[in-house]
Amino acid sequence: MTTTSKQPLMDITPRPALPMVRGEGSRLWDSEGTEYLDFVQGWAVNCLGHCPGVIREALARQAALQISPSPAFHNAPQLALAAALVGRSVFDQVFFCNSGAEANEGAIKLARKWGKLRRGGAFEVITTLGAFHGRTLATMAASGKPGWDDIFPPRMEGFRKVPFGDAAAAAAAVTDRTAAIMVEPIQGEAGVVVPPVGYLAELRAVCDRAGILLIADEVQTGVGRTGTLFAYQQAGIAPDIMTLGKGLGGGVPLAALLAREAVCCFEHGDQGGTYNGNPLMTAVGLAVLETIAEPAFLEGVRTRGARLAAGLERLKLRHGAREVRGSGLLLALDLGREVAPEVVRRCRDRGLLVNGPRPHLLRLMPALNVSDADIDRMLAVLDSVLAELATG
Ligand SMILES: *Cc1c(COP(=O)(O)O)cnc(C)c1O
Repeated sequence: MTTTSKQPLMDITPRPALPMVRGEGSRLWDSEGTEYLDFVQGWAVNCLGHCPGVIREALARQAALQISPSPAFHNAPQLALAAALVGRSVFDQVFFCNSGAEANEGAIKLARKWGKLRRGGAFEVITTLGAFHGRTLATMAASGKPGWDDIFPPRMEGFRKVPFGDAAAAAAAVTDRTAAIMVEPIQGEAGVVVPPVGYLAELRAVCDRAGILLIADEVQTGVGRTGTLFAYQQAGIAPDIMTLGKGLGGGVPLAALLAREAVCCFEHGDQGGTYNGNPLMTAVGLAVLETIAEPAFLEGVRTRGARLAAGLERLKLRHGAREVRGSGLLLALDLGREVAPEVVRRCRDRGLLVNGPRPHLLRLMPALNVSDADIDRMLAVLDSVLAELATG
């Protein structure tokens, strides 16, 4: 047998050559011992930072007890986490899975099943341009990422795209075939795009009038990221279905599909998965949720978010950037010119990790318990990099 590629790993994205070998709180170290201040945190995944005590303890405790009884049996952490999520949200039932894409895939299935049973076979889901819902075939079709429509033909049917932030466009797209509207409260991957005030409430009204479901994809915005436990709470509305991922596991693969009782229409055999509700992961989820749902913790997220946003505003003025936007600790600095990749590179050279989801945009998603000192340090590094770029 011969191998033609140099690397045993499929090359799916550019990465620095050195692997990261250790993490603690807001710090990461690579294999040469270089230290980084991490304002990416696995794309808003490590909500309590790297290797927090509560996660290490939950993993160790559960690993000594039981790792995988099989999804054919109940397990205690899964039941406890489901109860904790239901008790803190407007939803009545939960299905656990392993990734945000899988949770959204489940949401689409649930909406289609509901449409089949309750709305004369309606199956279409209205989604938004710029949306990111995951990388399975269905969630790629649901996403509104430019260029994603024709990568893996044939594209899955059943989605209609409307502009994000435009409730009237969503209303106009509803037909007898529509089962649901699916939307991120803030578009994350698209560049922390915040919709006009009242957008979610208007979508709720559109769904109520049409008798269809509202699905909130809170994979990125949920679990404290935007300063409340869930972002929909800031809109004062109740979605019919919500998906969680990323922060829910605090770094381990855990995601969830939540729905109100009237929508929970899966029958035996409709939904499942080998690792769904795995106790090792759900024990971690419970430890994370109990930490983050504390009112004082969420208050701290809002305070730290305000500090970071104020600092970014100062950098915006000083360096002629365009806009600071976001909520809580999901923030973005629109640089106004396409220098984000260069900024990301120079920050990394100075030991700061930031994310540039668009050529003109930086996204900041630090640990929700990031210290004031680390926020200030991050701002100082970014300040010097922007100053350096301005002078060439
Ligand atoms: C990251 C993300 C997903 C996909 O989650 P995976 O765990 O990567 O499958 C879906 N929706 C939103 C809003 C996301 O940010």
